[in-house]
Amino acid sequence: MKLKPSMDREAHSKVMVTSIGKIKFSRTTTILTKYIRVLHFISWSGGKDSTASVILMKLHLHELVDSGDEVKILFSEVMFDKKNNISGHNPDIIKFMHKTAAIFESWGFSVEFLHSDKDYLDIFYHKLTRSPNPNRVGMTHGFVPSGKCAVKRDCKLKPIEKWKTAHNDIEKIEYVGIAVDEPARLESLHKSPNKKSLLEMYNFTEADAMELCRKYDMLSPQYSLNNGKQGRDGCWFCPNAKLCEHEAIYKTSPEAWEKYVSLESEPALAYPKWNCFSKETLHQRDKLIKEGYYQYNFFELNLL
Ligand code: SF4
Repeated sequence: MKLKPSMDREAHSKVMVTSIGKIKFSRTTTILTKYIRVLHFISWSGGKDSTASVILMKLHLHELVDSGDEVKILFSEVMFDKKNNISGHNPDIIKFMHKTAAIFESWGFSVEFLHSDKDYLDIFYHKLTRSPNPNRVGMTHGFVPSGKCAVKRDCKLKPIEKWKTAHNDIEKIEYVGIAVDEPARLESLHKSPNKKSLLEMYNFTEADAMELCRKYDMLSPQYSLNNGKQGRDGCWFCPNAKLCEHEAIYKTSPEAWEKYVSLESEPALAYPKWNCFSKETLHQRDKLIKEGYYQYNFFELNLL
């Protein structure tokens, strides 16, 4: 009997019991885990390359997936404040992720939003017990420094690692969104035997990936966030965040924005500046945004 790879585990277990007729199983989950032959998963960021990979998976499912295989789409959502359910992603991007995930599910795929136990505020308020700079020991961590982001490690990558560990007993293939015109990234991908690129397999450039997302009306708002130009898909509290991203948070989650700005006034911070390269403080940004100066791009250029 041919099972749909997109079925969830419970559905698989029902089909198994039905297909085997009178035989009863008390531990269907264990049997089920063994039954899945290969788990194909796409770590989906919402960007054009990973979204195009999901579309290619749909278009070529029968060539790629055997009966008994399962397909999962994973999105690791970084949270600013878990307790108050405030995402670390731009609100328009999060809306897009939910809307697009629902379409993927209507195609029969299973989509999981993964969350770490930690959020940005946990990282911010963490007391340093060791540091290359002994003066920082005992201080509150503070903002994430450029190039040394603990949020990426603890809030973004850990949930995916945890998910992989939970599925350790199943053979897995990970599909990474790397296009044919990214040779250096592909070369590094080829060193991992259980990783593949659907964009490479179907000869898609980055521009082709963008076009495919447009065709399916699945181009993330990240590509027009920066006053109609390409924005970032990272966290809005990132040291690389642009003024327009902060302005979006001010507009959609004013409490989150106020909280973020207030962090600058916390005492004894090991990393007291939201962006160690910027001359501008968050309080100054707050003033610019509230006075409406964010509309003029040149302010950002002049101040950074
Ligand atoms: S977007 Fe910035 S803050 Fe978020 S994980 Fe990446 S580097 Fe860290």
